[in-house]
Amino acid sequence: MAGLTIDNVTKKFQSFAALKNVSIDVREGEFLAVLGPSGCGKTTLLRIIAGFEQVSQGEVRIGGKVVSSSNFNVSPEKRRIGIVFQNYALWPHMNVAENIGYSLKVAKVPNAEREQRVAEALKLVDMEGYGERAPANLSGGQRQRVALARCLVATPELVLFDEPLANLDVHLRASMEDEFADFHKRSGTTVVYITHDQSEAMALADRIAVMDHGQLVQLDTPHKLYHEPATPMVASFISQGIVLPVDVLAAGTDGTCAANLFGQPLSLRCRPGDGPRAGALACCRSEAVKIVNTDAPGFDGTITRVVYQGGLARIEFRPDATSDRIVHFVQPDPVTLEVGQTARLAFEGGWLIPA
Ligand code: ADP
Ligand code: MG
Repeated sequence: MAGLTIDNVTKKFQSFAALKNVSIDVREGEFLAVLGPSGCGKTTLLRIIAGFEQVSQGEVRIGGKVVSSSNFNVSPEKRRIGIVFQNYALWPHMNVAENIGYSLKVAKVPNAEREQRVAEALKLVDMEGYGERAPANLSGGQRQRVALARCLVATPELVLFDEPLANLDVHLRASMEDEFADFHKRSGTTVVYITHDQSEAMALADRIAVMDHGQLVQLDTPHKLYHEPATPMVASFISQGIVLPVDVLAAGTDGTCAANLFGQPLSLRCRPGDGPRAGALACCRSEAVKIVNTDAPGFDGTITRVVYQGGLARIEFRPDATSDRIVHFVQPDPVTLEVGQTARLAFEGGWLIPA
């Protein structure tokens, strides 16, 4: 087990920078998710950590030792890193035990020790008794567990996952998330887990690194990302936060500030010292949106869409005060709102996105 440091890493393909000055510290034993939309540089980062690509600038250190810089690159097989891909990459002509033990065989680990380590790895992923099976006779989830066992058998210092659940159906995903979480608890391995799925990242990770266009935009706990997004991109990418234009009138001393939204006063949580300014942005979460009576403070507008999703409806609201902002929020059952109806909304608590 080892910690990992990505130190100011830039990766260029010809003139195109796929990663720009990315710095991430992963603690020993930590489960870190790297989250971002397709094309933001996640796989490039994983390939650099694994050693398949060399950095253009900056440094990668594993357990404090430099493994990649602009003039130096430790090859993948010398890094003691395990990788689990989305397509499993199991050998079809080998049974489960042979797949798992393959790297040990190549390393000439004696038979008895190999068998024992394969059995331990199978146990770690809850697949005892499946050693003789062919990969073709396993479910998608079982194959992914075999891929995990195969990477763990080599006792890696670091385990990398590249969108490992992307090929599985929704129900299987949830149970595999639980299994990955259990595996991490049991093994205590340092994990870097790449995904474009924020609910997966939130369910699993101690901290999440959010990436956009090759840059790290925020590295925080799931809770902080949700409640205190650092940029509008994070606010909307994480659980589709409602991003609204506000003018900040005065900063309080208690972590809140007085702001103006569509001409109405609003109190926002903010970073200490975040001061008065016009044209700022606030993030409000769906559960903080309330329908209020017309004699209460709030914002009038029209309901323009209601999509029932079982247990709740996704509501689209257009404030009268502005033509270019649509507010999405959810109303839990019983869903009472209807298209065309006017309503007054109140935002009970929001977060001032830092300047
Ligand atoms: P993600 O995994 O987040 O979808 P990638 O790391 O695969 O993103 O790609 C990031 C960007 O870098 C994309 O614009 C992609 O086209 C580009 N890219 C990745 N690998 C190469 C390469 N070998 N040569 C040129 N461009 C690349
Ligand atoms: Mg990718």
